[in-house]
Amino acid sequence: MTHAVPFNDLARGLRADRTVLDRAMAGVVDSGWLVLGPANAQWERDLASYLGPARASLHVLGVASGTDALELALRGAAEAVDGGDRSLVLTAANAGAYTSVATIRAGLQPCYADVDPVTHLLTADTIASALSDDAISSKTLAVVVTHLYGRAADMQPIVELCRARGIFLVEDCAQSLGARSSAGAAGTFGDAATFSFYPTKNLGALGDGGAVVTSHAALHDNIRQLRQYGWGTKYHVTRRGGVNSRLDELQAAVLSARLPLLDDRNARRREVIAAYRDAAQGSVEVLPAEGAGHAAHLAVAVCADRQRFEEHLDEHGIGHDVHYPLPDHLQVGLAGGTAPAPSLPVTERLAQSVISLPLFPELNDSEIERVRDALATFRSE
Ligand SMILES: *Cc1c(COP(=O)(O)O)cnc(C)c1O
Repeated sequence: MTHAVPFNDLARGLRADRTVLDRAMAGVVDSGWLVLGPANAQWERDLASYLGPARASLHVLGVASGTDALELALRGAAEAVDGGDRSLVLTAANAGAYTSVATIRAGLQPCYADVDPVTHLLTADTIASALSDDAISSKTLAVVVTHLYGRAADMQPIVELCRARGIFLVEDCAQSLGARSSAGAAGTFGDAATFSFYPTKNLGALGDGGAVVTSHAALHDNIRQLRQYGWGTKYHVTRRGGVNSRLDELQAAVLSARLPLLDDRNARRREVIAAYRDAAQGSVEVLPAEGAGHAAHLAVAVCADRQRFEEHLDEHGIGHDVHYPLPDHLQVGLAGGTAPAPSLPVTERLAQSVISLPLFPELNDSEIERVRDALATFRSE
């Protein structure tokens, strides 16, 4: 079904950036380098200084996707942590299953903690509650925290909890590039952080792309080898578990060219969400995206009567989607990977009531007004 106000429209942002994209791509073609060359090296430096201008120790590795980034970070974790028989990766079940898929690919097993009902994120409390089960805590190798919808999780207590238990901490920043607080940018708190530059993310490549970020030199070196066949030096496989997951020069150059535009676009995304939130009436609540701690990746509302709200949006020509309809522990393709079966009442309830509204920086004022009008006129029965 096509809507007068599309859920997303990548063509608008590509048109706006046409000149810088053309220049970046021409530079790569002229250079003669296509994979892991100077554009990738430049991009790794650009992202490191964007995330932690004062952190000389922050290392970035360009890889082929956000899911690969998660897999490589977890393969790195298995080597970095003296794991013994620890094989569980504890994460949220409401974040689109990417971490679960990557965990299984890394030869590990996903397990789940519930999320906070207000922020929809993992907290130190929900993680601690899952770890109060000995069967989980004795086997947990890593925790993956997803900064879902662009909202940065409260990391300090989670860092302390993981450090005290010797658990490796990964931040999944696929939806949160640009979120930062006085304590630092999302992606600079854990042992490693992962990013996706899939075209719909806040910073999109012209195809797939991802990154792993870490401030541990040994982990950086390990993952640098794993992303390219496990090579220590060319044609010498020194690490087991290597894959081929590199960032193309074209994508790296595009990302460097677009990065300076990101903060303004994230600010515009936050403005759109604030306008929706302001218009929403009693039975729909648009989740807040205030301040620089929120990258405003998705405009998510909660509505107990979601089916009627979806019909109402269709009648008003407003695009919509659900992020995400089915929690990881209920996905058939992930079944059998989890032990013991989790109790996740908040996750399951939210999956029935979340709904995402149109959000991209190029939405125009009259489109935003149409969405506001639909929000203001919705009444549940
Ligand atoms: C998009 C996304 C990923 C996966 O990134 P890909 O580049 O598509 O592999 C991982 N985690 C989250 C939260 C995402 O939104």
